[in-house]
Amino acid sequence: MNTPTHLASLLDGIRDNDRATLGRAITLVESNSPGDRDRAQELLTALLPSTGGAHRIGISGVPGVGKSTFIESFGLRLVEAGHRVAVLAVDPSSTVSKGSILGDKTRMEKLAATDSAFIRPSPTGGSLGGVARKTREAILVCEAAGYDVVLVETVGVGQSETTVAEMVDFFLLLKLAGAGDELQGIKRGILELADLIAINKADGENLQAAELARAEFERALQILRPADEDGWTPKVVTSSGQSGAGLDEIWEIINEHHELLSGNGELEQRRKQQLLGWMWSLVDEGLRSAVREHPGVADTLKALEQDVLEGRITATSAAEQILGAFGG
Ligand code: GDP
Repeated sequence: MNTPTHLASLLDGIRDNDRATLGRAITLVESNSPGDRDRAQELLTALLPSTGGAHRIGISGVPGVGKSTFIESFGLRLVEAGHRVAVLAVDPSSTVSKGSILGDKTRMEKLAATDSAFIRPSPTGGSLGGVARKTREAILVCEAAGYDVVLVETVGVGQSETTVAEMVDFFLLLKLAGAGDELQGIKRGILELADLIAINKADGENLQAAELARAEFERALQILRPADEDGWTPKVVTSSGQSGAGLDEIWEIINEHHELLSGNGELEQRRKQQLLGWMWSLVDEGLRSAVREHPGVADTLKALEQDVLEGRITATSAAEQILGAFGG
């Protein structure tokens, strides 16, 4: 099979919304083999003009908070309303082991069975940066295939929430109401990332606790983030993936956010900054491995590290030597 034909058939399939082709295109984008990477970039470049049309929404929360139940009912509602929904994932555990926190296989079965939805498990292997690149590129492929809502799911482990926040327009954090003291144990950083916090499982006996938690988070956000630079004031609502309560309101809030940020130019700005940030992080990553693998550096690296550790030279002069050997 020659390459141009292969690419052309991928392009046609993506534009015709053939889900099997979409899956193949994402597999190509996720491949680490150098030949595939060139072809993937060729494909993405061809798709670029048809990208950018989706609401890119990050959804995070601890395991058990109800993410898959939420995404399934939220996604089904959107599909009923005529949207096309892609669900991607950034599972930080996929980078360290074969185990998966998000455990995608049996999740969201009803949504997966819908023609207007496409669900893709997290890419596996490599660094979080590598997984992030693959997911960012998968977003582009889904947009080119006409999906107008892309949900990127993750969990609050390490850097994964920040990583996802850097690739989406809107970040939704799902929380559970506990026994008071809701804010204990929540990382301050995540409060700064969230555009919306939903106190989930707000149904049955949980209703009252959820409402209390909502009020508490609202107060905390008022203090921490009275209004963002982009003009958005983060919100707190209650929701239930099980009963469907709050889901319409969440979609309204996402649209309100979209209208505000499209109107004041901040959405375009945010996406541009994300693109440049992404480009530079790839450059940083590439340089770092190029330096480590450079023949003049690789031989001396261990000894230099030892010299630093044992106090024979400073970290600064070791870094200068490494960069000198790399450049020389
Ligand atoms: P995830 O690990 O965050 O994806 O959470 P799941 O969606 O798998 O849900 C974890 C557990 O919570 C399951 O037993 C669900 O049945 C239950 N659950 C999920 N959503 C809700 C909800 O809205 N209300 C209630 N009461 N239980 C829920």
